[in-house]
Amino acid sequence: MTHPEIHLLRKSFLFSIGIICCIIAIAQKQPVSATDSYYPLLRKNFVEGNAYKTVAFVESRWRIAGNTGFNESIYYVEEILKSAGYTKEVKGEADGPLTYRIETRKMARPTWEPLDASVTIIGEAAPLLKYSTNRNMITINSASTPPEGETAEVIYVGKGTKAELEGKDLKGKILFGETGIGSLYNTAMANGAIGALAFSIPAYTKPEKNIHSIQFSRINYSDPKKQKWGILLSYDAKEKLKAALAKGPVRINVKTSSRIYESEELTIVANARGAAKPDERFVFSAHVQEPGANDNATGVATLAEMARVTAALVKDKKYRPQRTITFLWGDEIVSTHRYITDDSVRAKGIHWGLSLDMVGEDVTKTTGSFLIEKMPDPSAIWTRGKEKHTEWGGRPLKESDMFPHYFNDFLLNRCRQQAKETNWVVNVNPYEGGSDHQPFLNAKIPGLLMWHFTDEFYHTDGDRLDMVSASEMKNVGVSALAAAYTLASADSKTTLSLIEEIATNAMNRLQIEYLLSKEAIQKGAALAGEQHILNVWADWYKQALGKMTDINTTEITPEIQSKIDNAQKAVMVKNEELTNLLAGNK
Ligand SMILES: [Zn+2]
Repeated sequence: MTHPEIHLLRKSFLFSIGIICCIIAIAQKQPVSATDSYYPLLRKNFVEGNAYKTVAFVESRWRIAGNTGFNESIYYVEEILKSAGYTKEVKGEADGPLTYRIETRKMARPTWEPLDASVTIIGEAAPLLKYSTNRNMITINSASTPPEGETAEVIYVGKGTKAELEGKDLKGKILFGETGIGSLYNTAMANGAIGALAFSIPAYTKPEKNIHSIQFSRINYSDPKKQKWGILLSYDAKEKLKAALAKGPVRINVKTSSRIYESEELTIVANARGAAKPDERFVFSAHVQEPGANDNATGVATLAEMARVTAALVKDKKYRPQRTITFLWGDEIVSTHRYITDDSVRAKGIHWGLSLDMVGEDVTKTTGSFLIEKMPDPSAIWTRGKEKHTEWGGRPLKESDMFPHYFNDFLLNRCRQQAKETNWVVNVNPYEGGSDHQPFLNAKIPGLLMWHFTDEFYHTDGDRLDMVSASEMKNVGVSALAAAYTLASADSKTTLSLIEEIATNAMNRLQIEYLLSKEAIQKGAALAGEQHILNVWADWYKQALGKMTDINTTEITPEIQSKIDNAQKAVMVKNEELTNLLAGNK
């Protein structure tokens, strides 16, 4: 082969290598779906160790709005925001791309914090319960006893019913019951007793296994001069006290130490301001109150790390929100409700609300799984197949309660995208309520909850740092931010691919419900009822698809509108096909 030929061959060989490299590079660059590009960025930047460190700080504090632990947690988040680049508002949110403010409000009633407590059976050396190992033993709003404590006879009143109280002299005694502390305390006060001990804990916390768990609870706060105390018992303490009573009368010494004082409620709000549509926003909310690590130091911590990541990406020009992303930390439900109702103009711009509440469970210890609590869809009317309510509890909804919206499936799809890479277990539950997603829904704003259930240590003093998984918080944080980034900066290409995505969810759902109805009819269910279920689902998705006109940050292009129209038609055609099939008509 001549020199020029060899030279040519070498040139074409190098040329083809070059082509192949370009193809690989382009292939690597090309995200499979419009939302894919956010995940590598977020996985690289979300530092779960940061979130875990924040949990450690927050969970070591007993938090109620206005108290030291709550306020210190708010200021801890403030430090994270400041070092991430958020500046404190002077004039307002328009001050800059990354701002925050701390809102202060006078409280209608005094705040409370526990300092110490113990219960000792007279004649026994070791206390039955002590605060250092059971920080939920002293009931919220309990006043302090004198330093030496109060000693009196214990009277067992079972559930505290009228019949069980009949003929018992309770004056100057301590009531012991297996019922809620709230009502037992009121009974005690009404009968001149000096305090109350109660054992009442849901079965799903497995008290006979977790014998030292105590769920926090509260008593009424009335007159500071008359305020007494309530003590919550673990299964172990309850059993020991009953055993002592079985042998004869029992006297106990109760010491409580707490602070009850006037205070102010703090809420901290941070904003990554939208470049194009700053008044349209995606709002995250995490409640600060309650003593638990998972509930809800993990929500506080995950959201703080999400805010830090967002600031870093905005400053590095790796992400630019076109709509505003708002991060809110405060008192549960109260602060989110106020955020929506205090400013009706602002509320009009809230497109999506997402509550992070109990987002760090190490499910190998707590049991349960990660859950998205959906907005009201027909699975909350006909809860069947894989759909089921949690042990927290939900009531069947009516068709008039339905809230058709794409946000349910959209967030689920974002979590499943994260799960693909991490084997994360992602589940959903029908609407139940009880967290910061509720105020959004009450205001007819799409609102979802990211949480975990059943958590065996829910609201107990077993809910501590050792029950928290840093990687679980990362899965939640990455998915939640991928969802917000997608909606806060959606272009028409993204919008079109999301419509396709939700249309696929709709078809899958109709197919699932068709098979469930077919099975139900085989078991004797009425055809008309089953066809109705499909019709309600089809209508729910038709409306949900119709709402996708608010995604694109610029305008509703004709292409977007026709994609929505076609998807809606396809859903109705599919539904007709399936309802006919149910009737046995081809
Ligand atoms: Zn919570």
